[in-house]
Order: sequence, then C-alpha cells, then structure tokens
Amino acid sequence: MSRPPTAPVLVVHEVSKTYPGDVTALDRVSLTVGEGELLAILGPSGSGKSTLLHIMGTLDRPTSGTVEIAGHAVSGLDDGRLSALRARLLGFVFQHFHLTDGLDAAENVATGLLYAGVPRRLRRPRAEEALARVGLAHRTRHLPRQLSGGERQRVAIARALVNEPALVLADEPTGALDSTNGQAVLDLLTALNREGTTIAVITHDRDVAARLPRRVELRDGRISSDTTRTPAGSPA
Ligand code: ADP
Repeated sequence: MSRPPTAPVLVVHEVSKTYPGDVTALDRVSLTVGEGELLAILGPSGSGKSTLLHIMGTLDRPTSGTVEIAGHAVSGLDDGRLSALRARLLGFVFQHFHLTDGLDAAENVATGLLYAGVPRRLRRPRAEEALARVGLAHRTRHLPRQLSGGERQRVAIARALVNEPALVLADEPTGALDSTNGQAVLDLLTALNREGTTIAVITHDRDVAARLPRRVELRDGRISSDTTRTPAGSPA
C-alpha cells in the first residue's frame, strides 16, 4: 500500500542565494518536504548545504524565490514575526550540540520552550518528558560536562523536539560523534520519525545519508538528485 500524500511542512520554491563577490551558493533550488518525512540533504563541501539549511530555518533570506513553512510564507514577515514562527514551528540540532554549560539537562531542554509561551511551572515537566523520549529520563539533573557526547546530542534533540515543531533541522548531527554514538543518534532520529516527527538531516557523509529514506543531493548550488528508498517488501 502506498503512503497517502501528506501536507507539505516546507516548500522551497526556485530559491537562489548570491553572496557578495557574486558567489552563487544556491541556483533556483525547489524542494518540498511532506509531513512525516525523514530526509538527508547531502553534498560535498561548498555545494550549498549550509546556505540551504539557513534559508529553510529562516535564519537567512534568499536573494530570490520563496519559502513556506507549514503553509506560512516567510518572505513578508518582519524579524519579530519570523523569530516567533521559528520558535513555534522549527527545531534545530547542531553538530556541536550548543548546550549551555551551567544548566542541567532538563533546563537546557526547557530553553526550547522559552519563546513558546509555556508557563514556567510547566517547562520542567515538559522538558523531562522530552528527555524520556530520547532515553535520558535518568539524566535530567546532569550538567552537560557530566554527559557523554552521544548523551549531549540526545539532550539537544530533546530540546529541538520539546515544542513539537513541524520540522526538525539537524545540521551534521553525527559529525562530532564516534561511529557507535553516531549510529545511536541516527537510530533515535529514525525512531522519532516513526512516531511522527518530520526531520531533515544535513550531512556531507554518504554513509549517514544512505541510512535515511530520502536523499536530496546538492552539487554546485543545484539539486542533482532526489531519491526515495522504497521500503523493503513493498512494490516500487
Ligand atoms: P556547504 O555547506 O555545502 O559546504 P555553503 O552553503 O557553506 O556550502 O557554501 C556554498 C558556497 O557559498 C561556497 O562557494 C561558499 O564559499 C559560499 N559562501 C557561503 N557563505 C558565504 C558568505 N557568507 N559569503 C560569501 N560566500 C559564501
């Protein structure tokens, strides 16, 4: 049985980005991500991945073309509305975790709720629930320095999830981990996706991309391929 078509959570339409010095980082890129997808955006260094990630994450604006997140056109929004949209609809995971040293794991996760209008007394319980989802119910009071790299990345993933965003953007999430911890993080992202979270993983690592159901490949600022793996056992 084929999966029913899903509502797009992200539509990037004919996006180009030119940097000063006439560097074309993206050249008319179009990409639609449906609800419930797990995809890799891959390509060698300099192919435009970071630029696309920043534009998908509304952290940067395209030179031309449009971006919609969960049906909201991004281009007309001023910076205040844009940050509100980002806080409500997007979650970010970074290669180097970006946790705050002086906060324990639950407090770090709760920072994902700061701009979401969640009352203070509810933030810690929500953060603890998110930590339980990533298998860290027993580490809520640990500081980042008391956690392994793999655990830190799981805290960062919990922070990205805590507000139930429409889309999680993960920038080289396994890049700072050894292969065992990297595999565990990929397994976790896969499990969270099965529970319904839509996730885009940006990576230069073909082995990482090969483990994900859809792969969008960038070359010189253009999409050179977009392939979806048919689940084993189902008809093509
Ligand atoms: P990737 O993430 O795949 O390594 P980037 O999106 O960082 O690729 O870069 C794409 C192209 O844009 C590269 O040629 C890079 O040198 C250039 N570029 C990226 N950021 C800037 C910038 N701020 N100013 C000028 N050129 C940039």
